[in-house]
Amino acid sequence: MYYKSTRGGLNSISSAEAIKMGIAPDGGLFVPERLVKFSLDQINSLVELDYRERAVYILKEYLTDYSYDEIVECVNNAYSSDKFENPEIAPVIKLNENVSILELWHGPTCAFKDMALQILPWFLIKAVRKTNDDSEIVILVATSGDTGKAALEGFKDVGGTKIIVFYPQDGVSEVQKMQMVTQEGGNVFVVGVEGNFDDAQSGVKAIFTNKSLIEKMEKSNYKFSSANSINWGRLVPQIVYYFSSYADLVKEGEIKTGDKVNFVVPTGNFGNILAAYYAKEMGLPVNKLICASNENNVLTEFINTRVYNKNRKFVKTISPSMDILISSNLERLLYELTGHDSDVLNKWMKELADEGVYSIDIATGRKITELFWAGYSNEEETLKTIECIYDEYKYVVDPHTAVAIDVYDKYVISTGDITKTVIASTASPFKFNESVAKAILGEDKIRGKSEFELLKVLSDECSLKIPKGLRDLDKKTTLHNNFCSKSAMMAEVEKILKI
Ligand SMILES: *Cc1c(COP(=O)(O)O)cnc(C)c1O
Repeated sequence: MYYKSTRGGLNSISSAEAIKMGIAPDGGLFVPERLVKFSLDQINSLVELDYRERAVYILKEYLTDYSYDEIVECVNNAYSSDKFENPEIAPVIKLNENVSILELWHGPTCAFKDMALQILPWFLIKAVRKTNDDSEIVILVATSGDTGKAALEGFKDVGGTKIIVFYPQDGVSEVQKMQMVTQEGGNVFVVGVEGNFDDAQSGVKAIFTNKSLIEKMEKSNYKFSSANSINWGRLVPQIVYYFSSYADLVKEGEIKTGDKVNFVVPTGNFGNILAAYYAKEMGLPVNKLICASNENNVLTEFINTRVYNKNRKFVKTISPSMDILISSNLERLLYELTGHDSDVLNKWMKELADEGVYSIDIATGRKITELFWAGYSNEEETLKTIECIYDEYKYVVDPHTAVAIDVYDKYVISTGDITKTVIASTASPFKFNESVAKAILGEDKIRGKSEFELLKVLSDECSLKIPKGLRDLDKKTTLHNNFCSKSAMMAEVEKILKI
C-alpha cells in the first residue's frame, strides 16, 4: 500500500514514511492510494476476535511495510490492560432498542484520542528505523486540552522521542491543565502559552516551518514530527473501532452481518468521522454518517449548503474539544469524493487560506449529502440532553457525547429513520465533570466547588468509579512550571533541546 498527498505534489511513499512525516511537504495530507475492501464474510470473521485481534486484522492491510509481528507488537503495547481500564478496550453499551453507545474513553486520559495516540508512538519509532533514519524524533503539539495529554501519555518514555506540548494558559479546564502539568516521563516537556489555542497553534506551525531552526535541528540529529490528527498513523487506528462495534452488535444478536447501521460522531477536526467514512467505503454496512457539531457549526452549514465559511465568531462551549473552525481532515474526504482531483482541492484550500471561505460543486455536494447528515446542538440543548439521558437510563454522558445524542434525536425527528444506530462517545463524563454535574444536579449543588471536588460529588451521585487517570489528580506534584509568550515559543524549543 502506497500513500500520496491530497495536493498532488509528491510521488507515492510507504506508510512508514507517511507516518514519520505527518504532513506532506506540499501542505497536503497523506491518503492511501486505494481503499482496502472487506467482504461480509471477512467482517463476520471479526465477530469472534477480541479488540486487539480485530485491530491487527485491519491495520495490516494499510501498513503493508510493517511485518505482521511488528503490528502485533504495536497493538499489544497500545491496547494493554494497564493502559485501558476496560478489558473490551472500546465496549458497546446498549441504550435502548435502536441506540448503542460506543465508549471510546477507557484509555489513560479518559478521552477518545487515546485510541490513536496510544499506538501512534509505536508506529512512529518503527517507521524511523524502517526508513534507516537514526535521528531523534521531536513531537511538537499545540493542544486545546485532550490531544496534549493523550500525546504525553502515548510518548512518555518511548525511546528515540521527545515530546513538547504547548497549551494555552486561558484555554484549558482545571482538570486538563492538572493532567498535563503533573505528567511524568523523562522525555516530556509541557509549556503554558499566554493566549488562546489559536496563538499556541500558530506558534507551533511557525516553528515547524522555520528553516534555520530545522537546520539547527538536523545538526543535532533531531527531526520534528506531528501527533495531530492530520497524521495517517492517527487516523488508521480509528477505523478499527467502527468495525469492532459492528462486530459486537452482531455478536450480541442486535443485527445480522450485512444489516446497515448509522454512526453518529461528535465532530471537530473531522478525524473521527472520516475514519467512519473510510470504514463504510471499505465495505462496512453503513446507512448514514451523522456529523454532530456544537455551536461552532461550520460543518453543519457546509454539509447542508456546500459552502465552507470559517469567517464567523469562535464560540467557547462546554464541549471544547469540538471548538474548531477549520476541520483539517475534511480535505481527505473532498479528495476521495472528487476522484482524487488535486487541482480542484488546491483551489478550494487556497480560497480557504486566503478568504476563509470556499464552495464546492453540486455533484460533490450531492455525494456528501448521500453519505452524511449534519446537525448541531446548542449549549442549553446539550445540558438538557445530559439530564434527560441520566433521568431516563441512569447513564451518564459527557457534553461531547451529549451533542451527538441531541443531533441524533434531531435526525430521527427529521427523517423518521429507525436503523440501528451507534453513537460514538468520546470522553468520560468525569473529564468534563463541571457541566455534567450542573446538568444532573443543578446549579445550586455545584456552586463554589472545584472540578476536583466535583469528581467526588459526581461519583457519589451516579455510583460510578472515578477513572484511574483522574483519581487523586489534585494531590499529584506539579512537574512542569514553564510559561512563555507566543513570540518566545521557538526560543523555548531551542532551550529544551539545547540547540
Ligand atoms: C478531539 C475530540 C473530538 C473531536 O474529534 P475530531 O476527530 O477532531 O472530529 C470530540 N470529542 C472529544 C472528547 C475529543 O477529544
